[in-house]
Amino acid sequence: MSSSLQIRAAQTNALALYVHWPFCLSRCPYCDFNAHVRETVDQVRWRNALLAELAYWAAETAGRTLTSIFFGGGTPSLMKSATVASVINDAAKHWAFADDIEITLEANPTSVEASKYKELRAAGVNRISIGVQALANDALNFLGRNHDRDLAIGAIKLAAKTFPRFSFDLIYARPQQTVDAWTKELREAISLAGDHLSLYQLTIEKGTPFYADERMGKLMRPEDNTAAALFDVTQEICEHHGLPAYEISNHARPGSECRHNFTYWTGGDYIGAGPGAHGRITINGAVFATEQIPGPENWLTAVEAQGHATRQQKIIDGNDRVEEILMMGLRLSSGLSRKVFLVRAGLELEDALEPRRLRPLLAAKYLVLDNGGLRATKEGRLRLDAVLGALLS
Ligand code: SF4
Repeated sequence: MSSSLQIRAAQTNALALYVHWPFCLSRCPYCDFNAHVRETVDQVRWRNALLAELAYWAAETAGRTLTSIFFGGGTPSLMKSATVASVINDAAKHWAFADDIEITLEANPTSVEASKYKELRAAGVNRISIGVQALANDALNFLGRNHDRDLAIGAIKLAAKTFPRFSFDLIYARPQQTVDAWTKELREAISLAGDHLSLYQLTIEKGTPFYADERMGKLMRPEDNTAAALFDVTQEICEHHGLPAYEISNHARPGSECRHNFTYWTGGDYIGAGPGAHGRITINGAVFATEQIPGPENWLTAVEAQGHATRQQKIIDGNDRVEEILMMGLRLSSGLSRKVFLVRAGLELEDALEPRRLRPLLAAKYLVLDNGGLRATKEGRLRLDAVLGALLS
C-alpha cells in the first residue's frame, strides 16, 4: 500500500517544508498546539519573516528536491492567499519541486469562503485538510469550535470541488459518545470524504481547559472498553469503505496517503519555518534537530534582527536517532522497511534492537519482524506507547 512512499522515503535528496501560522480566531479547550489569538496580524511583516526563514534554510539545503509543503497551525486558512502564494513562489526559487509535489494547507470551516479556496488553489495549494472535528452541533459546541455542522459540510463540499485532494479531521471517543452514534457519524463522514480522513481519539493534554475539567470530574471520557470498541468500529467501517488506516489516526485509499506526514513517519528530512516549527536536516551526513522560537512576537523580532529565529540546532544521533525513527515508523501500518531504517539509522534493524526486549513483543504478536522490515500489528498499534516503552527503555 505505502510501498511507493517507502521507496520515496529512502531517497536522501528529498526534502519537505513545514510552515507554521500560529494564529486562530479563538482557542479550542482541548488544544495544546502553538496557537494564539490576536486582534490583528501584520500580514506583510509575517510574510517577509517567513520568506527570510525560507532563504535561511535554503542556504543550508541547496540542491535538494522539495516533495511537499505543509502550511500548519494555528489556522493557516487565516493567511492571506497572497502570503501563501509568496511562500510557494519563493520555495520554487530555492529548491527544485518534485513533479508530484504535495502542497497542503490546513483550514477551519469558519475561515473559508469560495473565493478564498479558489485563490489558494491558484496560489499552488493542491491539497486541503479541514478541521471539521465533529458533524453534530452539540459535539462542536463541546469542542469549543466556531463552526456548526452546516458550515463544516459546506466547507467539505467546496474543498471537493476546488482541490485535487482533500481531507478532514474528526475527533471521537468524546464524553458520552456511544458506538452507535459514532457509527452513524462516521458513515456520514465517509459519504462526504474523498480519499483521506484523519480520525483522532480525544486526548486530554496538560495545561488545557479540558485537563482542568477532567481533574475536577466535569469531563469524563469513555471507559477503556468503550474507547477500544470505538477504535475497533472505526477500523472496520473505514476498511469496509476502502479507507484503511495507514497510520494510527490516518485513513486513505491506497496511493492517497499524506506524503508530507510520511516524511515525518519515515525519518526523512524536513525544514520547519515559523514560530515553534521543528525540523530535521541532514548536513554532511549528520542529522540536525532544529527548533524555532515558539512565541509569535519573539519569533518575528528575532527573524527581523537576524534573518531566522532558530532556538536550537543540535545533532541527533546514536540511540536517540534510532528511538526517534522507531517511534515514528511504528505508527505506520506498513511499519519501517529495512531499507528506510538502514538509510535513516545507518544500521540493520537486528543490530539496533535488543533481542531480550524484542522477543516478548514478537511472541505477544504486538510486533512483526520479517523480510519487509519491522511493523506493529493492529493490537500493537492500539497500545503503541506501552510497546515502545518495552522495546526502547
Ligand atoms: S483551531 Fe486548531 S490550532 Fe487553533 S486553537 Fe483550535 S485546535 Fe488549536
